[in-house]
Amino acid sequence: MELKKNKYLIDGISVTGLAEKHGPPIYIYESAVIIKQYQKITEAFKSSRVKINYACKALTNINVLKLFKGLGSGLDAVSVQEVTLGLKAGFEPQEILYTPNCVSMEEIDEAVELGVRINIDNIAILEEFGHKYGTNVPVCVRINPHIMAGANHKISTGHIDSKFGISIYQLPHVHRIVETNHMKVEGIHMHTGSDILDVEVFLRATEIMFEMAKEFKELDYIDFGSGFKVPYRVDDVSTDVESLGVHLSARFNEFCKEYGKELTLIFEPGKFLVSEAGTFVARVNVIKQTTSTVFAGLDTGLNHFIRPMFYDAYHEIINVSKTSGKTRIYTVVGYICETDTFGWNRKITEASEGDYLAFRNAGAYCYAMSSNYNSRFRPAEVLVHEGKDYLIRKREDMEDLLRNQLEIETL
Ligand SMILES: *Cc1c(COP(=O)(O)O)cnc(C)c1O
Repeated sequence: MELKKNKYLIDGISVTGLAEKHGPPIYIYESAVIIKQYQKITEAFKSSRVKINYACKALTNINVLKLFKGLGSGLDAVSVQEVTLGLKAGFEPQEILYTPNCVSMEEIDEAVELGVRINIDNIAILEEFGHKYGTNVPVCVRINPHIMAGANHKISTGHIDSKFGISIYQLPHVHRIVETNHMKVEGIHMHTGSDILDVEVFLRATEIMFEMAKEFKELDYIDFGSGFKVPYRVDDVSTDVESLGVHLSARFNEFCKEYGKELTLIFEPGKFLVSEAGTFVARVNVIKQTTSTVFAGLDTGLNHFIRPMFYDAYHEIINVSKTSGKTRIYTVVGYICETDTFGWNRKITEASEGDYLAFRNAGAYCYAMSSNYNSRFRPAEVLVHEGKDYLIRKREDMEDLLRNQLEIETL
């Protein structure tokens, strides 16, 4: 989104115009930003054989998946349903890595049946998998290197008490299972969480991965997961992808020489690829002055946009209806019948009822986490692609709310 000639535009199209056309609240995604972010990583790692697997749980609209397919991306899927969506979007099974956590063996069997790559993060499942498939189905092993990434405990996954991955201390057991069952470990994987600020910390984790990799003789790839950070506030730090690319690529290529084989370096970012491509637009229903606060109450709530309440996430809020004029301080809230605050004490251009407010960084984990709480309809999604807007998901209606409800006739 950019301010140009007194209008907020997404790829040349007016944001308020889109909100009026499709009806608020509405999610708008800009394909040009997704493409730019994708190219930023592939460019930074171009001296290695790099593969990006988009972690699609961030945003799973099938058009977004198709866009990634067109870019040459693979897919990281955390459920068999995401696998199915990916196949439907046109990905080859071998381009999809299925990375589940705490799922049943039945679900893993389904994924094997669909032909995708399997990432295993639990000793007991690895053992069961080995008994069942032996040498016939290769696996990737998700390792927990116990590197503490970032400050947010809710989204860090590498710490000692994390439920994710197989601890590096359990590797002797892994090797015993692999050897006994003649399994082929085609890849090793880590994903230390969604909050890596620091290239140094990340590189330390990769050294642990290289150490581990030496012990597996049949690898085709090493998957370094994600953790790429994007700026949410103007002065936020983001992961220095260029610097990471320079350092890690060189080290990776050196490792491949030691290992005696050119491996593929995989990343699986979600947030980095789609967060900044998304804008969520809602309308001001009421301006409510209480004794201490001015509230701007919107025609949406945590049912559509849960990150501020769930993760204490900060999303920049802009009055896109008034691009200039005096500013006031608002606490921006939703219409859900419990506290659902989007932003406390935000300085925005003076808002009136009917104005549109836009939330930035609304591409990742926003629509994907929406619900029907308070029996509200989920909003529409629009993709702006090559200067045109496409409605890529309709707003729900009453039929959607009732679709799977079965009425007992005697009630
Ligand atoms: C969620 C997830 C990602 C993506 O994380 P981001 O912070 O959105 O980049 C990558 N890999 C796995 C296994 C995940 O669960």
